Amino acid sequence: MLKILCCVKQVPDVDQMRMDPETGNLIRAGVPAILNPQDANALSAALKVKETYGGEITLITMGPPNAEAALRECLAVGADKAVLVTDRAFGNADTLATSYSILSAANTQDTFDMIFCGKESLDGATGQMGAQLAQRFGMAQVTSTLLIKDVSEETGTAVVERELDDGVETLEVKLPCLFTIEKTNYPVRIPNLKGKLAAKKKEITTVTANDIPDLDRGRIGDPGSPTKVPRMFPPVLPEPGVILDEGSLEATVAKLVDIIRA
Ligand SMILES: Cc1cc2nc3c(=O)[nH]c(=O)nc-3n(C[C@H](O)[C@H](O)[C@H](O)COP(=O)(O)OP(=O)(O)OC[C@H]3O[C@@H](n4cnc5c(N)ncnc54)[C@H](O)[C@@H]3O)c2cc1C
Repeated sequence: MLKILCCVKQVPDVDQMRMDPETGNLIRAGVPAILNPQDANALSAALKVKETYGGEITLITMGPPNAEAALRECLAVGADKAVLVTDRAFGNADTLATSYSILSAANTQDTFDMIFCGKESLDGATGQMGAQLAQRFGMAQVTSTLLIKDVSEETGTAVVERELDDGVETLEVKLPCLFTIEKTNYPVRIPNLKGKLAAKKKEITTVTANDIPDLDRGRIGDPGSPTKVPRMFPPVLPEPGVILDEGSLEATVAKLVDIIRA
């Protein structure tokens, strides 16, 4: 049976987030949390693989306890199990510490043939996690995955299409492999009532730092995060442009020439 890990992140709804102009800090209070939209596409890809070839999907998220809501949303559309990696010790982590923490927590659960990630998160948006996780799990990776065309447990391979700037590349890859998913072919699944009710009953495994044997605490949370963010500020936007319309092309060009001369 194919064992599939799907990485999902709960993010603040950035459309509703504002920045404190004095401190430069993001004002998170009162901002609703949502499932990272691209992770819903990654989950759709994982579900399609499960429906076509069989398998079991385990979700994993690292975040505060209320990230459970994002996991329930994913369980409601057909994921089988969920792992919530949560502990104050994991807090204030940059991507390096986050990928190490997710690897360490996932290793307490199972080994995986396929890992699915979104392309990037709505808030951090570094797009680094997929590549870092592939490196940490010691598996191949396919970025910008457009389509999983075939998966064979027998040969331990998958055939996939990958988006390039100027075309599409078809690759055969050895499993285990990590895929970051383009949303084009994998629309978000909407849970029905039956799915929502079933999701409420599914068990979510919580993993804290103490649950991970041999965890290197120097590599998680703040101590494990070499990236420091000294300041955040809104970008200075350029002056808006002027649209000339003098009634005719000739008059408009004449006006433009006047402005340039001046
Ligand atoms: C100095 C510093 C301190 C930070 N402190 C905090 C903090 O206290 N709290 C906080 O929430 N963030 C914090 N962050 C942000 C944190 O590093 C990122 O949220 C995280 O590492 C993922 O990076 P990203 O959001 O750019 O994801 P991307 O690399 O853009 O995401 C790609 C994909 O990776 C997967 N993924 C990403 N994050 C997770 C996750 N947490 N769980 C499961 N799958 C995931 C998803 O599939 C996602 O689509 C901090 C960052 C820095 C630099």
